[in-house]
Amino acid sequence: MADEPRPDRPALDIHFPPSLASLRPRLDALLDDFDPFAVEETGHGARRVWFFAPGARDAAARAIQQALGRDGAQVVPRDLPDDGWAERSQAELAAIRVGTIVVAPPWDPPARDAPALVVEIVPSTGFGTGHHASTRLCLVLMQRMHKDLAATPRVIDLGTGSGVLAIAAVRLGARAATGVERDPDALRNARENVERNRVAGAIDLLEADFTLPAPQTTSIGTASVVTANLTGSLFAAQAPAVLQHVAPGGLLVASGFTDGEEAGVRAALRAAGAVVAREIEDHWVGLAFRRSAAVGPR
Ligand code: SAH
Repeated sequence: MADEPRPDRPALDIHFPPSLASLRPRLDALLDDFDPFAVEETGHGARRVWFFAPGARDAAARAIQQALGRDGAQVVPRDLPDDGWAERSQAELAAIRVGTIVVAPPWDPPARDAPALVVEIVPSTGFGTGHHASTRLCLVLMQRMHKDLAATPRVIDLGTGSGVLAIAAVRLGARAATGVERDPDALRNARENVERNRVAGAIDLLEADFTLPAPQTTSIGTASVVTANLTGSLFAAQAPAVLQHVAPGGLLVASGFTDGEEAGVRAALRAAGAVVAREIEDHWVGLAFRRSAAVGPR
């Protein structure tokens, strides 16, 4: 496998001087909108961000230039041979613990005597190894809201990535979960993880874009618990598309946005219900949101 020639990959070198450290969360949130598959710290405040497609890389370059160029951020697009850095860095990932849940790669299983609900995740180029604060925030909120999980016949996980939240939902007592994902590579990884965790009987995976209106998304349906670790701009622009999958009176566990984006996300959700729990880690925010029992505005 290592001998196969690898095609060049679109990347972006971002020079972000240490004096701009406080703007880092904004940069991270901006990048998230363009589906980067790996971020490499290259030293002296510089980072190399790898993308799946040149179009996304170019759009990210423009967005960063526009939002942070005046503050001194510099971006240089590159097409570089993929030397397997992303895979190598993933091979070094260790297990993380969030409350009673341990998210572990196959090579770092938790000790047998440490009581834990284990979610085994094979790291891939998709998102969802538990090494991003937003995934951990969802896991914390799901444990805080465990009564909702235990009571619901099904959880819908919008943007399931590796499947980590869908599998965790089942570990935490949900009877079933549906993971929705539009990226076929991520979906392949989610399938592998569902098999490994022996929860194939409880978890359905759907390849779909959940923001499309019915009837395209009718197969997803609604649930009284929905998890959605997405982005600030997606929530702000597409809140009704997310909420169409949350049953009246149901719970939405939402993350993937920074404290700077939180007001916009809350404003987009406000008419439909109320925030009932909030968690924050390193500028990333997670909200548990209860949809009004009456059918709210769409
Ligand atoms: N749930 C995982 C992964 C979150 S990353 C975790 O918490 O770690 C967000 C995922 O949402 C990505 O895999 C992305 O491909 C997917 N996604 C983003 N917008 C989507 C859309 N409109 N429809 C389906 N999937 C989407």
